Amino acid sequence: MNLGLGSGPEFDRIRAIAKTLGDRARGLGDDCAFVEAGGEVLALSVDLSVEGVHFRREWLDGREIGWRAAAGALSDLAAVGATPIGLLASLAIPPESSSEEPGCVMDGVGAAVAESGGVVLGGDLTAGPVLTIDVAVLGRVNRPVKRSGARPGDGVWVTGWLGASRAALELLRAGRRPDTPVREAFAHPHPRISAGRWLAAREAHAMIDLSDGLAGDAAHLAAASGVALVIDLERLPLGSGVAAAAADLGVDPHRFAAMGGEDYELLVALPPGISEADTTRFEQDIGIPLTRIGSVTAGEGVSLRQGDERVSLTGFDHFR
Ligand SMILES: [Mg+2]
Repeated sequence: MNLGLGSGPEFDRIRAIAKTLGDRARGLGDDCAFVEAGGEVLALSVDLSVEGVHFRREWLDGREIGWRAAAGALSDLAAVGATPIGLLASLAIPPESSSEEPGCVMDGVGAAVAESGGVVLGGDLTAGPVLTIDVAVLGRVNRPVKRSGARPGDGVWVTGWLGASRAALELLRAGRRPDTPVREAFAHPHPRISAGRWLAAREAHAMIDLSDGLAGDAAHLAAASGVALVIDLERLPLGSGVAAAAADLGVDPHRFAAMGGEDYELLVALPPGISEADTTRFEQDIGIPLTRIGSVTAGEGVSLRQGDERVSLTGFDHFR
């Protein structure tokens, strides 16, 4: 089974799992699984958040931890153009947690799913070594936009802004306090549900949400579609605080943003002929920008350019 994922040890492990499963699995490798039921297509995805891996409790309160966990899962529904129905959330609660903590986490989960138009459908609660939240989301979709449909000649576009979540993370790791808009990008990411639906209706050919950073996630879209992506780093729309955080680290802000995880923006291949009027309408309808950052060509992999220079960057990998 060709999963259409980019390179890296995390994705090698996923390929090995898929090989083990063989024909006991099907349709792996996209942001969502699709199941036909009652004449409609349901989209499903699951996302795990683990204390010490995805968040630290000294950085976020329980409600924020719940919001982020749910937002990350809901973002996969956005990435296929689906409309959320609801979610199931399983919590593992460590011994030091207060009796209020599960309720606080689920308050954040509930707020995030409500913003996306869905509800909490159920869950599970257990004791565990660290705070862990596993969120399974369910949506409905008319025409799923997969990662695999990009064609040479398409434009490569991105919603919103990139890098602010990483900017917050770098400050928090350094023991500093991010400004409110920077912290918000990390603590309250907004799954781009309405943007995903808008782009699906505008004949998007392929789409993926940016969870591990543009450099890595673009490679998945290229591999799934069997095409190459050429991306101009100078065109990346930089989020709040990115320039300052990159300057602190002594790195270029566009490269910083291309390697920033957990932006939860959408990377989308759109057919040629998208006009300025279209992007203006997107901004008016959705309230965030839609920026062209590159093109789809024949070939394979992602070519990142900055001026005349070819740049080599990788996305976040849990096992690197
Ligand atoms: Mg995804």
